[in-house]
Amino acid sequence: MAQIGFIGLGNMGGPMMRNLLKAGHSVRVFDLSDAARQMAATAGAQVVDTASATAQDADVVVSMLPAGEHVKAVYLGKDGVMAAAPKGCLFIDSSTIDVASARDVAAAAEANGQMLVDAPVSGGVGGAEAGTLTFMVGGSDAAFTKALPFLELMGKTIVHAGGAGTGQAAKICNNMLLGISMIGTCEAFALAEKLGLDAQKLFDISSKSSGQNWSMTTYCPVPGPVPTSPANRDYQPGFAAAMMLKDLKLAVEAAAKSGASVPLGSQASQLYALYAGSGHAGTDFSGIINMLRGDK
Ligand code: NAD
Repeated sequence: MAQIGFIGLGNMGGPMMRNLLKAGHSVRVFDLSDAARQMAATAGAQVVDTASATAQDADVVVSMLPAGEHVKAVYLGKDGVMAAAPKGCLFIDSSTIDVASARDVAAAAEANGQMLVDAPVSGGVGGAEAGTLTFMVGGSDAAFTKALPFLELMGKTIVHAGGAGTGQAAKICNNMLLGISMIGTCEAFALAEKLGLDAQKLFDISSKSSGQNWSMTTYCPVPGPVPTSPANRDYQPGFAAAMMLKDLKLAVEAAAKSGASVPLGSQASQLYALYAGSGHAGTDFSGIINMLRGDK
């Protein structure tokens, strides 16, 4: 059994960590929040006082933190994890962060005789609890091979995307497409309403036609056609508008740095900034249909 460090025990990290514990690994954890530390102690993890203490004698350290600045501070900061971890240690960063920070931290690990994979996820809190997340993994072949048995305890679909940073690249490209497709789907349903076309009829036709997409068939933004979608529970998330905005901003930033043209991604980012900023940061991202209708 491996000695695992785990940093960041929030909505996603908490259940991911518990799946490592369930497999019989010894897990040493840290989070800034008292409540998260208490949850981890109750689950059977060893709680320590600093992020770096999780890394002592660790075979693997997993992190699930809010953003790039937290990841850099935890790994590279004064008394950081990288300095405390043994040579040969593998770091798995599953936070969704910018590609440049992911590459910086991976390069620092390599220079320090360690390995890092960027392994952001999709699948949400439900997937984290069920151990069915999708992992998009960037890193060397050796790092991926070492990470795989641990990722398999937390996820079902695990794809090696390429070298360092490509896991984050996959995540932001996918979520940019999701944001754009959700807005497009919402616009189609809002237009149908104005034209006197019943939403269920549009769904029956479009879900079998060339307009078919995931935002419509799995996550339909109007109540009725897909009973499990957040539209049926007053747009409780699901995936909050603030999180979609975070991912769209990462995509637009990455496009600016790399010289890619993303006019629709940019427009989607502005629309989600408006929606989240109008009191809907915590509303499901499909609720943007209400703003597009001019309702709220
Ligand atoms: P969260 O806010 O619930 O959890 C983050 C945790 O990190 C908190 O418990 C916080 O106390 C802790 N933390 C912050 N700074 C720290 C530090 N310096 N040291 C130790 N702990 C620290 O967030 P989450 O929903 O679990 O998301 C985590 C990451 O996963 C984010 O990057 C998010 O974009 C990504 N993500 C989330 C979802 C989702 O549905 N929630 C889905 C896919 C990806």
